[in-house]
Amino acid sequence: MSDSMQQLRAQCEECQNCPLGATRTNLVFGVGDPAAKVLFVGEGPGEQEDLQGEPFVGKSGQLLDRYLELIDRPRDGGGIYIANIVKCRPPHNRDPKPEESEQCLPWLRAQVRVLRPQIIVCLGRIAAQRLIDPDFRVTREHGVFREKGGILFMGTFHPAALLRNSAQKKDALADFQALRDKMEALGL
Ligand code: SF4
Repeated sequence: MSDSMQQLRAQCEECQNCPLGATRTNLVFGVGDPAAKVLFVGEGPGEQEDLQGEPFVGKSGQLLDRYLELIDRPRDGGGIYIANIVKCRPPHNRDPKPEESEQCLPWLRAQVRVLRPQIIVCLGRIAAQRLIDPDFRVTREHGVFREKGGILFMGTFHPAALLRNSAQKKDALADFQALRDKMEALGL
């Protein structure tokens, strides 16, 4: 992790800016290559993530890892970084409340300032609606790249949704293949 990402993480460890800070076991700041040019963003930590302090480590994380390995971009050494909209687990795996996301977004924005990613992939509706378009519909708009503020954004299915509906796995794989092609085209 770069010095500035380390410093940011240390500051974030102290955060109690919303009620989720009081109930977390561990902060789930993010993981990956500090020089990554591709940033994946989910909605928030679940139970396993809260226990281990790392994003996407439960069953849905294993599925995400499979897709990343299929496009030769593993979380270790694949030039990617993985984070969430909120850094602390919402109780009982509920969705983050809008005010919790609002309080936590400055941390993600700070991560973006450090990484300066060229591509941000939103995993699931909540991240896509926060970062791409409040009306974003994953089933309709997944896999589409759109430029905002010099960054290419793409939304795809949340791995947990794919575990519930495996019929969408083919579409998700196509999105990851499109991501691989885009990374290659950009020399990433
Ligand atoms: S969720 Fe974000 S804003 Fe809320 S306490 Fe955790 S780090 Fe702070």
